[in-house]
Amino acid sequence: GQDSRISRISSAIRAIPDFPKPGILFQDITTLLLDTKAFRDTIDLFVERYKDKNISVVAGIEARGFIFGPPIALAIGAKFVPMRKPHKLPGEVISEEYALEYGTDVMEMHVGAVESGERALVVDDLIATGGTLCAAIRLLERVGVQVVECACVIELPELQINLL
Ligand code: AMP
Repeated sequence: GQDSRISRISSAIRAIPDFPKPGILFQDITTLLLDTKAFRDTIDLFVERYKDKNISVVAGIEARGFIFGPPIALAIGAKFVPMRKPHKLPGEVISEEYALEYGTDVMEMHVGAVESGERALVVDDLIATGGTLCAAIRLLERVGVQVVECACVIELPELQINLL
């Protein structure tokens, strides 16, 4: 059932203390990718949830949204759109700045990748403060795309989610 799939998925994710800097408990999904059943279950759970929601766009956030997003997109019959760090996309882009713990970052998306009125799912590996997902939502909404939901493998419950 769903619970046994979720417990296998959580056990396949490895937590590494003090990476990339002291005080951060890094959730490493590369060990999940080594467990073929747990990786497949992860994708299946998302596909079961999103297959009949009329979603035409899966927007994946660099870098680990590029691992989980494309198999979900193929299975639900949606296109995949990468949301990238600045100066990576070669075509014309629109950009959105967002706050980090210290400083700011920028996310970019190709102009013309999506059309006004499309329905999107945003995919990343992990939500902490929600700042990254919010930037992706703002980018998509600026071009008239409706964000149906955001899908993450891991939620950090100890952190305060600030979606506004
Ligand atoms: P946030 O914008 O605060 O929700 O942070 C989420 C983004 O930062 C995601 O793209 C994650 O991959 C990354 N991230 C934040 N905290 C961690 C963590 N403890 N382990 C792994 N990745 C993290």
